[in-house]
Amino acid sequence: MSFALKTVAVVGPPNSGKSTLFNRLTGLRQKVANFPGVTVEQHAGQVRLSEDREIELIDLPGVYSLNPRSDDERVTHDVLAGEMPGVARPDAVLLILDSTNLGRHLVLAAPILSLGRPTLVVLNMADDLRARGGEVDTAALARQLGAPVVLISAAKDEDVEAVFEFLRSAMAAPAPLELPPVLQDVPHCRQWASRVGRSAGYLPPAPPIWTRRLDAVFLHPIWGPLIFAVVVVAVFQTIFTGARPLMEGVERLIAFSGGWLGTVLPAGAWKSLLVDGVWNGVGSVLVFLPQILLLFLFIGVLEDSGYLARAAVIADRTMARVGLQGKSFIPLLSAYACAVPAIMATRTIENRRDRIATILIAPFMTCSARLPVYTLVIAAFIPEKPVVGPFLGSRAAALLGLYLLGFVAAFLTARVLKSSVLRTEHSSFVLEMPPYRRPTLQSLGLRLMERARVFLRRAGTVILGVSVVLWILANLPLDQGRAPKIEASLAGMVGRTIEPLIRPLGFNWKIGIGLISSLAAREVIVGTLGTIYGLEGESQSAGIQEALRHDLTPEGAVALLVFFAFAMQCMSTVAVVRRETGGWKWPILQFTYMGVLAWLGAFAANRVTMLIR
Ligand code: GDP
Repeated sequence: MSFALKTVAVVGPPNSGKSTLFNRLTGLRQKVANFPGVTVEQHAGQVRLSEDREIELIDLPGVYSLNPRSDDERVTHDVLAGEMPGVARPDAVLLILDSTNLGRHLVLAAPILSLGRPTLVVLNMADDLRARGGEVDTAALARQLGAPVVLISAAKDEDVEAVFEFLRSAMAAPAPLELPPVLQDVPHCRQWASRVGRSAGYLPPAPPIWTRRLDAVFLHPIWGPLIFAVVVVAVFQTIFTGARPLMEGVERLIAFSGGWLGTVLPAGAWKSLLVDGVWNGVGSVLVFLPQILLLFLFIGVLEDSGYLARAAVIADRTMARVGLQGKSFIPLLSAYACAVPAIMATRTIENRRDRIATILIAPFMTCSARLPVYTLVIAAFIPEKPVVGPFLGSRAAALLGLYLLGFVAAFLTARVLKSSVLRTEHSSFVLEMPPYRRPTLQSLGLRLMERARVFLRRAGTVILGVSVVLWILANLPLDQGRAPKIEASLAGMVGRTIEPLIRPLGFNWKIGIGLISSLAAREVIVGTLGTIYGLEGESQSAGIQEALRHDLTPEGAVALLVFFAFAMQCMSTVAVVRRETGGWKWPILQFTYMGVLAWLGAFAANRVTMLIR
């Protein structure tokens, strides 16, 4: 019997190379959505098998078993069993296992194969297995499993053709397996897996000697944290210096195109909306794209090389001190990119109190939306001077300080929460150490594309929208048919209304308008200032810096930075906290707490700067 495949699922433990293979098979024809009802991401893509034949590939979350303990395992189980509403039951399965870690990974084969779907067992990392002297007899393994087995290297593109072959050929269901009766039972699956591994002549690779050597240094109680600190400092310094030429390029491009638009458009309201509102607003934020991409390039390299897992172990010692589990580390780390996915990632924390505590502190971590605000204000007020020789300049040091400030706020808040309303016992941390690997260009490239897409989407929606609304508010009410001065406009009035509240921090009404608009998303303030100053006749980032220096005293600038470090200016985060905690109580509490802290912190920063200046 033969049939055409329509949907094929990719299943495997974390770090087995699922995404790498998925990207190889689908190229760029991918989309990301959420599985219905849960916040687990669903990656789907098209695989072209021949001129007129395409199938859909679904990448399921990485799991070690199918026990429905966490959301990830439940989703994987439900999709494979055809119980996920809205997702067709896959016609076949690609089971990806790491051939260098088959002892552990084969355990997952038992529950997957017993689902009775046509399955190709893909042993990945063939290059690594060979390089370290490991062996496996794929034919013998296939006989044992009753399913075809291929040994490939997804990253090196070795034998990936065999996977295409499988997808092309119509497969009959695998022969029934000789499996232990309770397939979901992990100890049984383990015994079964080690027996199967033995009869397939599996020789595990020698643990790479350099992994042990590197670990001895990176996990060393003294050298480990020191190296971590050096890595972090290097990253920050490069973000400032390395991105500059690119940023200047983008700046010039936007200034040039804005100027060109200004000359070709007929004078009038439309020209003002396009040039002053949209171009200045969106353009001033776009300038920061290179910097954000550079940050993610570093995060990508650190993660793919396996170093980040070591950093997690070092950090776990600190986490225990505030009473949080090491499991909170990964969500908190991803909060440096954005709090929204970080808060979703807390789903892996089983203890509800620990989970809430992690959700509450996640937005203190310095997300990438703060980066444009920080760099703009720092560049405007802090002259570049060497601090630690050529390794660390004053601007990078200030930026690093702001990251630390957010971290300290999170740390202290966790401490208070965990010793009061959210107290629990400490449970220890198990994280599988991936081996050190050379990051692949493809994986890094895809990460950067994804980030660029998110950033540009925000620029094209939230920031564009706010810029247009702001332009309208800044041009009303009409004064004898002409636009008013910005002080007299609706936007100006709003700014003036809140001015008494923010004056003690050293902010005037223009910064006030920026603060209000940045409640939607932090980086919007940069766009807002771009629009306001654009209407006043300044333009682009260098112009914004110039204008900022007129508007803010140095103590006001420090206060503004501290305000942004603490305040919860992000509606997406508020919405996701509401969804994940199941009500308004926690998001309201969090928003208020962070707002009060931001005001007090900014006030204190203002006074202290004034004293020491
Ligand atoms: P996932 O968590 O299962 O999606 O795994 P990824 O696709 O993210 O891969 C984990 C790591 O293994 C990444 O750093 C990949 O570059 C690397 N990797 C993937 N496939 C191979 C391979 O065939 N050989 C080697 N040496 N590394 C690989």
